[in-house]
Amino acid sequence: MADKKKITILVPCYNEEAVLKEFYGRVSSVISDIKSGDFSIFFVNDGSSDRTLEIMKDLNKKDKRVHYLDLSRNYGKEIAVIAGIDYIDADAMILIDADLQDPPELIEKMIEYWQQGYDDIAAKRKSRAGETFFKKWSSHMYYRILQSVTRISIQTDVGDFRLLSRQCIEALKSMREFERYNKGLCSWIGFNKKEILYDRDARFAGETKWNYFKLFNLAIDGITSFTIVPLRLATIMGLFTALAAVIYMCVIVIKTILGIGHTVPGYPSLISAILFIGGVQLFCMGIMGEYIGRIFTESKGRPLYFAKEMDGKKIIDYTMIK
Ligand code: UDP
Ligand code: MG
Repeated sequence: MADKKKITILVPCYNEEAVLKEFYGRVSSVISDIKSGDFSIFFVNDGSSDRTLEIMKDLNKKDKRVHYLDLSRNYGKEIAVIAGIDYIDADAMILIDADLQDPPELIEKMIEYWQQGYDDIAAKRKSRAGETFFKKWSSHMYYRILQSVTRISIQTDVGDFRLLSRQCIEALKSMREFERYNKGLCSWIGFNKKEILYDRDARFAGETKWNYFKLFNLAIDGITSFTIVPLRLATIMGLFTALAAVIYMCVIVIKTILGIGHTVPGYPSLISAILFIGGVQLFCMGIMGEYIGRIFTESKGRPLYFAKEMDGKKIIDYTMIK
């Protein structure tokens, strides 16, 4: 059939040699069973230092549906995703991790919803196997906090595993900010959203590339790219502290005039006031620094990434990735 819709499975990969073959096996058996689409698998090699790229090349030779893009170094998952988005040509795209934590079997259901007219079908986790209590708890709290400070509705407990329609793909493509936070961007663009519930598996093999430091950075990016509420918070906090200090000053002056002031030198209260104000100031400066840092990275106006090759062809034209 000539009018089959093109559906691309987009897979960012960083040192995934241990899982890639298994991943390909599971995904290709899933997509072979779905007759309603013209499928392709698009791997993005995010500067892996192991055999990931060789495996991709191998699969590309063996299977016409498999394509790959090789980035010039490791840029991080969020950039690997936009790189993939730039180079695919599809009516719908399914973003999935290579580590089989997201069951490819859900793809069929996503496509059903897409055919019903939804644009952004995200998989929502019911449970998370193989993750520590602290990771679950911190991610839960983070979503709650993020939601309470932004006007757009952030989807909770959804990963990056989702299907995006052509419209969403083009919308994401047009947003070229540097410090990306895909989940947030997907919420921001709107369109018809749908969530599917599933149980998240533990990683099939290999190790997670995330550590708490990276997660913390991503969390800060998430907040600073979506809201300036922290800046306002800093202003309000500064205002209140200053006000409290003025009131306290008045109290001391009045007490002294009336002759009921302390005879003991006010060392403890003095030092605690200084420390408190100092802390508040540092905190506010930190917040402002976060935003200034973002202005700095965005203002350089560099391309988001450079890609070396796609399906064996060298890439030399970078005008399209602005
Ligand atoms: N990934 C990537 N670049 C990176 C880190 C990760 O492309 O710098 C990919 C990785 O190969 C995987 C996905 O992003 O397909 C999710 O990574 P991981 O499983 O390590 O994250 P977690 O599931 O623990 O959040
Ligand atoms: Mg994972």
